[in-house]
Amino acid sequence: MNVDLHAHSFYSDGELPPSDVIRIAAENGLDVVSLTDHDTTAGLAEAQQAADEHHIRLITGTEISATWRHKDIHIVGVNIDPEHPSLAEGLMHHQSLRRTRAKAIGDCFQSLGIPGAFEAANALAGKGLIARPHFAKFLVNEGHCKDMGTAFRRYLRRGKAAYVKTEWSALSDVVGWITGAGGIAILAHPCRYQLTSTQLRHLLHDFVAAGGEGIEVVTGNQTLNDTHHTARLCEEYKLLASRGSDFHGPSSRAELGKMAALPLSCTPVWSRFV
Ligand code: AMP
Ligand code: MN
Ligand code: MN
Ligand code: MN
Repeated sequence: MNVDLHAHSFYSDGELPPSDVIRIAAENGLDVVSLTDHDTTAGLAEAQQAADEHHIRLITGTEISATWRHKDIHIVGVNIDPEHPSLAEGLMHHQSLRRTRAKAIGDCFQSLGIPGAFEAANALAGKGLIARPHFAKFLVNEGHCKDMGTAFRRYLRRGKAAYVKTEWSALSDVVGWITGAGGIAILAHPCRYQLTSTQLRHLLHDFVAAGGEGIEVVTGNQTLNDTHHTARLCEEYKLLASRGSDFHGPSSRAELGKMAALPLSCTPVWSRFV
């Protein structure tokens, strides 16, 4: 079975409407796909319509930012009830944090001599929520940076001049919203946080204690070494394994559903719902 449980539409920082994400999922031979926009479930109804048309199974989802020991960690929640009150309230809180942060990022660019960044990023976000890639895109469009990667490296990453620290909800709360909404909490792209292996173990310990059940063993753009390492941690912590591309659109670093299969030693997350 071909499953991808991590993808974005223009309801967050993806480039495409949910209907296109689902169409591509079907074209790429996926049997099951989850739409996991950052801190929102707004695209799920449109995605479900498209999934019905293309005869593909949609799993509800979202990718929630969390703060753990002063670091930003991403938790994917799948098979959630998007209307569950504590999840919906939590996501609304994060949406408001994002608006406040975006204004502050705009102020940073203003003092760097780059005016109009907030307005432009907000326009690029359209009806979706605002995220740092919208600022990166603005910088590329205006010729300040040659590509999005450069925009992050030069301005938007932690420690850079337009980085604004945000206190997302605590990891344990975020996991609680997901499990409270009937979903499975999955630690997203564990190798991307630049944690030492001791820190990653502490994170997994706290994640499991909070009720986290899954880990992305296969993600887009990951070395085979990282996959094997994550698979071992998955077994050790008795977690369910997930496979998610983190697709953001055609110029995305990863294609939808075209990653390696899960190692055979892993129990897939989807054994719980398909
Ligand atoms: P935010 O959630 O607003 O803090 O934005 C984080 C998002 O930025 C991630 O989900 C990625 O999609 C994107 N991102 C992070 N680092 C980079 C990078 N170096 N180049 C392009 N996109 C990035
Ligand atoms: Mn993103
Ligand atoms: Mn992420
Ligand atoms: Mn993602």
